Amino acid sequence: MELYESVKLAKVREELITHAKKHALYKNVTDTKGHIVFGRGSESAKILFIGEAPGFSENEIGKPFVGRSGKLLEEWVVELGLAKEDYAIINVAPIIPLSEEKKIRPPTPEEIQYFLPITMKMIGEINPEVIVMLGKSAARAFGKETMRCGESTIYDGKKMSFIYHPAYYLRNGRKGFEDLTNLKKLLAEHKETKKYATL
Ligand code: URA
Repeated sequence: MELYESVKLAKVREELITHAKKHALYKNVTDTKGHIVFGRGSESAKILFIGEAPGFSENEIGKPFVGRSGKLLEEWVVELGLAKEDYAIINVAPIIPLSEEKKIRPPTPEEIQYFLPITMKMIGEINPEVIVMLGKSAARAFGKETMRCGESTIYDGKKMSFIYHPAYYLRNGRKGFEDLTNLKKLLAEHKETKKYATL
């Protein structure tokens, strides 16, 4: 079942919307006639990708990673051999962060912290076995900003891996497949211990 129509995630989705409307960032949604962006993917995902915040495409459509970064992320998903029901994607901030000049900027530590209780509830409801942090903002949310690309750790009993944000690879004209090696290995080991049908 898709996250946005999931019954088990309905309450946390409502909470996210109520919480988001109380934050100064919400003005960006009203000013742009955009959306508070929840997650996408499977409600019973074993792998949860966690990104930064919506960009212009995501703000317009209302789903995470539907722009250029999302296209690269979908290529990673294929490269990792994941099926639709295996993964989900959320962000550490659900609203597009904009500078005074109305340009995209990273969410501030305060903004990440403000949404952290909801981020944790989303993780709790999805209850993935592996979390993949995409970029520094996601790592910051979990106090993992010193992790290196491809590195893994255990967080709250879950395997947690860090890779640069897809936008980083796009800026550098790379696909980043070589940086997926450790994540591939981690998923293979995980498959070995859990014996998933699809992973
Ligand atoms: N970058 C992110 O971190 N999240 C999105 O949803 C889109 C781009």
